[in-house]
Amino acid sequence: MKEKTLIIGAGIAGLSISIRLEEQNIPYLIIDKGENYSSKIAAGIINPVVFRRMALSWRITELLPEVLDFYQKLELEFEDSFLHKIPIRRGFAHEQEKNLWLKKETEADYFDLIKPLDEADLSYSKLNNLCGTGEVKTAFWIPTLKLLEKIQSKLIREEKLIEEDFSFDKLDVENLTYKGEKFEKIIFCEGFHGIYNPYFSYLPLQATKGELLTVKSSEIPENESLNRKCFVLPIGNQLFKVGSTYKWDSPNTDLSEEAQIELCSHLENLVSSNYEIVNHEAGVRPTVLDRRPLLGEHPKHKNIFIYNGLGAKGYLITPLLSKEFVEYLCGKRELDREVDIKRYEERI
Ligand SMILES: Cc1cc2nc3c(=O)[nH]c(=O)nc-3n(C[C@H](O)[C@H](O)[C@H](O)COP(=O)(O)OP(=O)(O)OC[C@H]3O[C@@H](n4cnc5c(N)ncnc54)[C@H](O)[C@@H]3O)c2cc1C
Repeated sequence: MKEKTLIIGAGIAGLSISIRLEEQNIPYLIIDKGENYSSKIAAGIINPVVFRRMALSWRITELLPEVLDFYQKLELEFEDSFLHKIPIRRGFAHEQEKNLWLKKETEADYFDLIKPLDEADLSYSKLNNLCGTGEVKTAFWIPTLKLLEKIQSKLIREEKLIEEDFSFDKLDVENLTYKGEKFEKIIFCEGFHGIYNPYFSYLPLQATKGELLTVKSSEIPENESLNRKCFVLPIGNQLFKVGSTYKWDSPNTDLSEEAQIELCSHLENLVSSNYEIVNHEAGVRPTVLDRRPLLGEHPKHKNIFIYNGLGAKGYLITPLLSKEFVEYLCGKRELDREVDIKRYEERI
């Protein structure tokens, strides 16, 4: 029988790889120590537009069809809903941003993604905004905790996921064994914990903390997600996620008063609604200096791989990247050069 592939980490990175291996009938085992501070905390927003530059997200035209396919297949499998369509309403910070939107709405790549501005957008009154608003019409959100728990529970039942702290002392990279068991390949999907991985320590992986509030309000609109300096995402029952902060080099989930004040201030600048804070959470994103993921095989140790650095958009990019990564493992394609860890080989 073919040896299994070992995956370390059952966040959205490791789970999406397991789903792709399953599609190829490749046996695998996942080890996770149950310390998930990113995939379970994430707001799960899928936004095709980078508002700061009013640019499209990297590879968005390839990513979006894979997003639909990947999460809709999971909806069928688990008979539950995971991909919720929701428009995003951007409050323009200044006239230049509005003018940039007016320019972009005439470009073909944006036709399916943003709605041309009309009078209602410009005079939109639920936001404290003098320069008007614009609507991203093709956007989604994913209830991340529910999705992860569903997939993980299934894999635990099938004995494909075990809860355990992976110990590097028990790994023999030459013979590809862990605790004496032989594996075909080993893939590290440790999220920000990857900064402690001795084999890939030469890569510029960073731990970027993000804090989020959940607020309750009967006055904030529930049919769209609001955005300017922060996002306000309706999650049902008059509850909204408000986020998120960015703190670089911060591999901890301590809740800070500073972040709470920052988020409340952004929220109050955006809307005049009354609200009450019902939860405050922190997570840590695995980010990379050049904002591209870290994928590929260790330059010296054969069959030791990394799939990490999904940054602030893991749920958007992993449906496509996990597919391409497993095709690469099967020898069917090369990795996209922008994500291949070969770009950092001079750092070894
Ligand atoms: C506040 C916040 C908001 C976000 N919002 C969004 C959003 O709206 N949309 C979006 O697309 N993305 C969002 N993200 C980003 C998204 O969460 C990440 O891109 C993604 O979750 C990274 O997934 P991962 O599997 O690489 O890491 P993780 O989710 O951190 O998973 C890594 C796993 O590895 C395990 N592990 C690590 N080391 C070991 C070991 N030695 N032994 C065993 N197990 C180990 C951990 O237990 C963990 O479960 C957000 C992130 C944060 C923090």
